[in-house]
Amino acid sequence: EFGEDLGDEDDLAARPPVVTVMGHVDHGKTRLLDTLRKSNVAGGEAGGITQAIGAYQVQTTIDGVDRGITFIDTPGHEAFTAMRARGAKSTDIAVLVVAADDGVMPQTIEALNHAKAAGIPVVVAVNKIDKEAADPVRVRGELSEFGLIPEEYGGDTQFVDVSALTGEGLDRLLEAVVLTADAALDLRANPDMPAQGVAIEAHLDKGRGPVATVLIHRGTLRIGESIVAGSAYGRVRALINDKGENLTEAPPSMPVQVLGLTAVPGAGDNVLVVDDDRMARQIADKRGSRMRAAAQAVGSRRKTLDQLFEQLERGETQELLLILKGDGAGSVEALEDALSKIDVGEEVSLRVIDRGVGAITETNVSLAAASKAVIIGFNVRPTVHAQQMADRENVDMRFYSVIYSAIDEIEAALKGMLKPIYAEETRGRMEIREIFRSSKFGNIAGCMVLDGTIRRNQKGRLLRDGVVISETSIASLRREKDDATEVREGFECGMTLSNFNDIRIGDIVETYEMVERERS
Ligand code: GDP
Repeated sequence: EFGEDLGDEDDLAARPPVVTVMGHVDHGKTRLLDTLRKSNVAGGEAGGITQAIGAYQVQTTIDGVDRGITFIDTPGHEAFTAMRARGAKSTDIAVLVVAADDGVMPQTIEALNHAKAAGIPVVVAVNKIDKEAADPVRVRGELSEFGLIPEEYGGDTQFVDVSALTGEGLDRLLEAVVLTADAALDLRANPDMPAQGVAIEAHLDKGRGPVATVLIHRGTLRIGESIVAGSAYGRVRALINDKGENLTEAPPSMPVQVLGLTAVPGAGDNVLVVDDDRMARQIADKRGSRMRAAAQAVGSRRKTLDQLFEQLERGETQELLLILKGDGAGSVEALEDALSKIDVGEEVSLRVIDRGVGAITETNVSLAAASKAVIIGFNVRPTVHAQQMADRENVDMRFYSVIYSAIDEIEAALKGMLKPIYAEETRGRMEIREIFRSSKFGNIAGCMVLDGTIRRNQKGRLLRDGVVISETSIASLRREKDDATEVREGFECGMTLSNFNDIRIGDIVETYEMVERERS
């Protein structure tokens, strides 16, 4: 079965901890990951090329023993929580980055809460210690109020002063991570079993076909083995590590690029080795059809709904009805599961009347209109017609990319805590119609603004067939040959996204701002 080590205690061997870097924006997460990655490329070796494969491993020596640490190369708690939402436990420890010149900020606490929710220990990297305004003592004081008491003050959290810019303190940070893992966790896995792991990133490479970065949880993955990754399958043709080296096998906690899959799996999908190709295909097909079944489950629930509606009319119940749509069967399940655990007391109740995978459709909207249900979109959006219908029928749709914000908001609504909240307001939408490749800027998108106004630096997300592919922001914007701060509906523009390059023609980029709004 997936998720368990075979054998007994004696079969387990120590494995490196897996770390996610979290913290407030601009506090230095990306820089820290970059510096750690570079400092680990063997002493100034010619070229020293590292592969951007979504995760990498560094080595450090503690008490004369070589120890590895795996870093997930996607900073921030969003990806971490999205993976968790899909049931993938991929992180053992969080490194919480706090800029010493800025101190604890809202997203610092948000990140901390996500780590707490996952039940993983936190190591604090007090960053930008090279700056004159750095006040590492204040950071310690501020975080103490949130339950992270520094070890030097008698608590059990390691705080390390670092500079991601100069590299100062990074050795001590690595040491703190290993010591925290040793003290709080028993990280062991059976290396001698068919490998199991999770896909942390995957894409389609023109020359090499589907490429998935897999983090091995247990067992050892070898070339030639048959694997299933979500609803994709195949035989391992090549294994490539973060330094671009070809491997013959990958042990627990190691991130590797896997070549040989027949399709691109989703981030958070389980990966496992099976006996042979036939079995791989069977399991993959079964997973695929389960997802399709979830997407088609509308009709069969009509009846329940009609009864419910009658009850509501007669005043027999007071229920909040929800329709859940998500980007994968796993995330929908996780959302429904989390919703079912909300304690709402006696008077009101909460009921999911339909759920499915993929964009929000007119069928979903008509169901919502008929039953006065609210549609929850998790990493998905309505089709154009569904949006028009929702506007017409006054159907309430809410979109989330983090399960906990969905839960928080619904819970608050149910408990009648009708305080103003920060909510997203869409600012503009554009369609990618051409792609220009630039060696300097990566892929530049030639776009048409479909509605609203697109502004530089606005937060946004990239949608493909109604499904959110990436949370991002508008890094640069051009009209004709000039930089532009904004581009309005009906105009063309050139645009690049921050931290996202895998654009395709037909993709939609939607921008938004967070605004305060009254809860209705
Ligand atoms: P992120 O949003 O948390 O990923 O932050 P970045 O890694 O992008 O860093 C934000 C800015 O702070 C960049 O301009 C970095 O060069 C700068 N920065 C990051 N770490 C340090 C540091 O240790 N010292 C100084 N002086 N600047 C830093």
